[in-house]
Amino acid sequence: MKKVLIPTALDSVAKDILEAHGGYTVVQIPKCDILQFARENADLHALIVRSEKITAEIIDAAPALKVIIRAGAGYNTIDIQHARAKGVDVMNTPGANSNGVAEEVIALMLADARHLIAADPSCRAGKWEKTTFMGTEITGKTIGIVGLGYIGRLVAKRLSGFEPKLLGYDPNVKPEQAQALGVELAALTDLFARSDYVTLHLPENAETKGMVNRDLLGRMKPGAVLINCARAGIVNEDDLRALKAEKKIRFLNDVYPKDEEGPKSVADIADIMVPHLGASTREANCKAAELAARQLIDLDDRGIGNAVVNR
Ligand code: NAD
Repeated sequence: MKKVLIPTALDSVAKDILEAHGGYTVVQIPKCDILQFARENADLHALIVRSEKITAEIIDAAPALKVIIRAGAGYNTIDIQHARAKGVDVMNTPGANSNGVAEEVIALMLADARHLIAADPSCRAGKWEKTTFMGTEITGKTIGIVGLGYIGRLVAKRLSGFEPKLLGYDPNVKPEQAQALGVELAALTDLFARSDYVTLHLPENAETKGMVNRDLLGRMKPGAVLINCARAGIVNEDDLRALKAEKKIRFLNDVYPKDEEGPKSVADIADIMVPHLGASTREANCKAAELAARQLIDLDDRGIGNAVVNR
């Protein structure tokens, strides 16, 4: 029997699929001390995690560990280099939570355009501020999508009912692929200059860290909206702070340097900020759990490792 630890409140469908398949002993303990579990279970074969930190120390404590599966997209919480050095595959479940994020983008756009966040407490307090909350419509607007991967593509698709002009920037997407999505590829500077909304859907890495800087922000139309549901470091926060008032840029934000309680440095410049809710839907949780279990079975039974991220 292969021992699998799920140290998180992942949908129980992962455990159900592995147990129904047979050959697995699955232990699911939300908020488990993973290091201690690894030390006490030398036969630990696989870990299925969400955003729990998997350190070199944990990997070293689990001599039989073969695979760590991140039920979700981002895997910056896992020491993937150390895992590779120890022969441990790390996988994510690409695409499982894309729809959740795409819908969040549209929720943020509409909430901002119609002042829903401010109008609710005002109305509850007995006020009737119809003029103050005069809104805008998102239909027909120009929307720039930076990064046309799983999420960026779905954003394009889900937005199509609003009959937008869609611009896209992604160095790995060909014009004909963009065209099939109804997206016109544009240079990044052009996209920022022409868009009423710019929404970010690219990874944070050495190339993209601080990419949304003074130069790009300075090109935005007055009153344009920047949405970051990707990773915090992509936006140069100080540059946005410096230009926000002058350019009247609105900033809708889901992501932070760390996922944790406490004051957030973007609070003074974010018009709407939510606690990394993009993938927090029941459907995304279930889909990621199902994919994680199936990918583990495929790897163990047939050596299929398409989703391995640390080859
Ligand atoms: P993906 O890998 O499918 O797509 C990323 C796209 O970005 C790729 O098409 C890639 O070619 C493109 N890209 C890479 N470098 C670029 C650059 N310099 N400029 C423009 N495009 C570039 O990833 P995804 O699943 O679509 O995720 C996109 C982002 O959303 C990631 O940052 C991910 O961590 C984040 N994310 C956030 C949440 C959330 O809850 N808010 C959930 C899932 C993913």
